Amino acid sequence: MTKAAIPSIERIDSELSSVSSCTNASWLGGIAASDFAALDRLAVKLIGLDSDFAAPLREMGRVIGARIAVEQNEKPVCLDVALSALILACGLEGVIESRILHRNAEGALLQISGCSAVLGWPIPNVERTVCGFDAGLFEGFLRGVTDEKALSVEETACLGLGHAYCEFKIHRQPAPGEWEGGPHDHC
Ligand SMILES: [Zn+2]
Repeated sequence: MTKAAIPSIERIDSELSSVSSCTNASWLGGIAASDFAALDRLAVKLIGLDSDFAAPLREMGRVIGARIAVEQNEKPVCLDVALSALILACGLEGVIESRILHRNAEGALLQISGCSAVLGWPIPNVERTVCGFDAGLFEGFLRGVTDEKALSVEETACLGLGHAYCEFKIHRQPAPGEWEGGPHDHC
């Protein structure tokens, strides 16, 4: 019961680090997992404060995502596996909920919930998307693991818009056989 007295951010840090130690992912793209978690939280805060932070933070997310992709030993063959690998690498498995709402040859729609629990505070409705860092992170990572340079990720629903979840639209060039099952039976 003493845990109730611990500030939520510390509790979350401890949860994140325990997940990270399970997965041996204490470093992400050359950044300590705890610094990554702090950066992820700060990015939401900054974009919520001023929309001018969105573009540079999206770019930072993209660079870090690409660096995490380089660290992957096995290149995922489908979107589900790729996203699971990223969530695992970020120490967020079991902390956030992610699901792919639909998927076709042109892309997919990814829904994420549980972000406020990770942040430790509710994201207010600021009438704009506030997860540009994460959109960039997904984009850089997915481009890296798929070698699809034209792949892009756009946040289309967000807690910052008053929605109950965030959604990311993944646009890609059709590539039959990849991410669609077929010869790769992982999806
Ligand atoms: Zn969002």
